[in-house]
Amino acid sequence: MKYNYHTHSQYCDGKSNMEEMVIKAIELGYTQLGFSSHAPLPFYTHWAIKPEKLTNYFTEINYLQTKYQHKIKLVKGLEIDYLPHHPKRFSEFIKLGELDYSIGAIHFVDNFPNGEAFDIAGKPHLFHQGLKEIFNNDTKKFVERYFELIYQLIEQKPTIVAHIDFIKNQNQHQKLFNENNNWYRALMEKALKSIKTNNVILEINTRGFYKSRTTDFYPSERFFPIIKKLDIPVIISSDAHHITELNAGVNKAKNLVEDYKLNLLSGI
Ligand SMILES: [Zn+2]
Ligand SMILES: [Zn+2]
Repeated sequence: MKYNYHTHSQYCDGKSNMEEMVIKAIELGYTQLGFSSHAPLPFYTHWAIKPEKLTNYFTEINYLQTKYQHKIKLVKGLEIDYLPHHPKRFSEFIKLGELDYSIGAIHFVDNFPNGEAFDIAGKPHLFHQGLKEIFNNDTKKFVERYFELIYQLIEQKPTIVAHIDFIKNQNQHQKLFNENNNWYRALMEKALKSIKTNNVILEINTRGFYKSRTTDFYPSERFFPIIKKLDIPVIISSDAHHITELNAGVNKAKNLVEDYKLNLLSGI
C-alpha cells in the first residue's frame, strides 16, 4: 500500500513522533501519510490529545507538510470520538484544524453510574464491570447500544469510519456473542448499508489482528461479501502507534481485499 491515513503519535498514545512517522513512510515508499491522533475529549483519558496541545499538533503538521512537500503528501486529520451529548464535535474540530479528513470512532458506550465514561477498550475487568453496572450483563443490549452509536456516528459523515466492529475486541473465542448470529449480522448489515448511503469510507483496520486482540481484521472477513455487494469504498489502515506498525498486517489485508474484489481506493 502507498498510504496510511490512520496513525497516532506522541501527541496522543502513539510511541513515535510525527517526523519519525514521516521518515519511515517515505522509506516504505508511501505517497501519502495521514495523521489521526485522538481528538481531545471533555473528560480525562490517557490516550487523547490534551486540549492545550491541540494547536501544536496542527502547527507541527503544517510545518512537516512544507518540509517534506517534495517527498510525500501529508494530510491532516483527527480520530474523533462520537459522543451523543456533544453532537457538534465533528464540525467543530474540522473547522478548528482545517482538517483534510476525519476518522469517526466509538470507544465509549455510555457511562458508569458514577458518571465516568465506559471505555470499551479498557482492561477486561473494567469492561466486565461496565457490562454489569450499565447493561446488567445483558450482552445483546450492550451490542445493540454500541451499534446505535455507530449509526449515529455514520450520520455525522466522517470521511472514514474507524474499526467498525471494535466491539469484538472483548469477544475473544466468541465468549460474549457469536458473530454468525442473525441478530448480530443484521446490526452489522444495517451499519454497512448506512455507510454506503452516507458516502463514508470503510477502513479495513489491521490493528486488532497484529496486536492479537482479534483473530480477524475490523471488520471481520465474514462481512466482506456484504461490503462487496454494497460496493462500499474501502481503504486499508494499520492504526499505527509506532513506526514499526505502519505496514503491520497490511499485505494480508490487501490480499484479502483483492480476493473479495472490494472497491479499494487509491487514496482519499
Ligand atoms: Zn480507535
Ligand atoms: Zn486509532
